[in-house]
Amino acid sequence: MRRTLIVGGGITGSALALALAERNCQVTLIERQPAEDEFPSLDETVTGFGERVSTLNWQSHNFLQQLGIWQDVAAQRFLAFIRMTVWDGDGSGYIHFTAAENDLSALGFIVENKLIQVSLNRRLKQHPHIQRIEGEVTHITQSASDCTAIMDNGDTLQGEWIIGADGAQSHIGKIGGFRTHHWDYHQHAIIATIQCEKSHQHTAWQRFMTTGPLAFLPLGGKNTHFYSIVWSCDRSLADDLIGMDDTDFAAALGTASEFCCGDIQNVSSRKSFPLHHTWVMRNPAHRIVLIGDAAQRIHPLAGQGLNLGLSDAARVAVTIAQGTRSINQAQWLSHSFCHHPYHVAMGMAIGGLHHLFKSDALLLRWVRNSGIQWVEKQQIIKRWFVAQAALGN
Ligand SMILES: Cc1cc2nc3c(=O)[nH]c(=O)nc-3n(C[C@H](O)[C@H](O)[C@H](O)COP(=O)(O)OP(=O)(O)OC[C@H]3O[C@@H](n4cnc5c(N)ncnc54)[C@H](O)[C@@H]3O)c2cc1C
Repeated sequence: MRRTLIVGGGITGSALALALAERNCQVTLIERQPAEDEFPSLDETVTGFGERVSTLNWQSHNFLQQLGIWQDVAAQRFLAFIRMTVWDGDGSGYIHFTAAENDLSALGFIVENKLIQVSLNRRLKQHPHIQRIEGEVTHITQSASDCTAIMDNGDTLQGEWIIGADGAQSHIGKIGGFRTHHWDYHQHAIIATIQCEKSHQHTAWQRFMTTGPLAFLPLGGKNTHFYSIVWSCDRSLADDLIGMDDTDFAAALGTASEFCCGDIQNVSSRKSFPLHHTWVMRNPAHRIVLIGDAAQRIHPLAGQGLNLGLSDAARVAVTIAQGTRSINQAQWLSHSFCHHPYHVAMGMAIGGLHHLFKSDALLLRWVRNSGIQWVEKQQIIKRWFVAQAALGN
């Protein structure tokens, strides 16, 4: 039976491991951290929700459902959102997206990352085709038909493929000699859980300001006043916001959101992430494939990073399980995932949006406002946006 080595047991690496194992492939999953397999208690307080939250599209939802993971997550906590309002903080343009207009039951699903990870860890632990090893790969050698990973404790592991799913600073990408296209947004994303005056009514909000986008993502549970926020802004503003006490932060957040969800009543502690755009440009390593943040890291404004990673995992699983063996096929496999048109288009669209909304230039401000008002009236274009973001087409 064929064996695949996967380095990185985050959500994308773990989902790939399970997808391959379900297709009768042997998998060794190498992860440097211990696996958490206890679900957290589901308190409905600003500290009771997981601090990392993702908006998943239908494609990711369906993939996790095929793996049996969605059912486990859904039994815990998630929110299907049915409306989204996007507006330009600098003008009067609003766009409203609704699931109903697009004949969908939801525009997407907001899930705490920890719940997906724990569900995956539990399934991986039980699967007879999956071996999980705690450690790091220090070196890789490749032949025409397989590759060998040398571990930090001196052990060697062999597989037909090595998949680097080891996140944004991918060590596998570095030792595999991958070239990357990289730029720094010079921005940080601040995340927090908040409780607001108004009930969320299954609506997500995103305000684009010249300082960066601010998103309010409604959270699941019985109490409908909790949101996860992602506030992207320049480093100096991020430092100021992180340094504020809870009262000042809640006031700043209320003003920045134009009180779309009413007063901010409670806030959790904040975390900040530097924002980069990284894209794998060329793949010289025949039997090494990068997926997830190891292959592409994008601005969180469109909530697509994990969706791209799960789409990588689904495609790689199918191709490997079909028995891709020759070097030519292997090169195609490793190349095509890095340059899949959907991924390239998504990266370019997100980069373009970021620059459009950040600009203070009068002409771009006019384009933004007129554009937003125009798009709001164009059902076909709104449907196209929903097809890209909600369905993952
Ligand atoms: C603020 C913010 C908001 C976001 N919101 C969304 C959203 O709404 N929707 C969405 O789709 N995406 C979102 N994203 C992106 C999403 O979080 C990432 O794309 C996703 O978590 C990447 O998963 P991954 O498994 O590829 O990488 P990671 O989560 O980074 O996992 C990598 C794993 O590899 C392990 N590892 C690393 N190095 C080694 C090594 N040398 N040896 C062994 N193991 C190693 C790590 O311990 C980790 O477990 C957001 C990102 C940010 C920053």
